[in-house]
Amino acid sequence: MGFTVFDFVKLDSDLHFKILEKVGVYCARFSISEPKILLTTKEVLEMPKEVTEGRRTSAYKYLGVSYIQDNVVFINVRKIPDEKTLENTIVHELIHMRFPYLSHGRRFNKMVRRGLAGWTFKPYAKRR
Ligand SMILES: [Zn+2]
Repeated sequence: MGFTVFDFVKLDSDLHFKILEKVGVYCARFSISEPKILLTTKEVLEMPKEVTEGRRTSAYKYLGVSYIQDNVVFINVRKIPDEKTLENTIVHELIHMRFPYLSHGRRFNKMVRRGLAGWTFKPYAKRR
């Protein structure tokens, strides 16, 4: 008995599917287009350098990274210990996408809490 390589491939694709499903739900609530999701540092390194500039070789240190300009999000599944952290990380990164003008801080954290609580947000309109 025990796990075979096929079990891991299956766990992996289940997890991948689950993440994309959650991302889809939150993107709809936040009125944003679904970003390209990267789940491994290998995928980060394979992206064009101009996309991941500044958070490329350092991406492995973070639970998640948003490349806002190019609508790309890295979810560092290897570093994420549990479901709650996964949910928090997805919402954190997607709040960056919906509120690109907010940096980390009280207002940003408030939006993350609202996102986790199921709030919906109207589409982001650039100020004229
Ligand atoms: Zn952040």
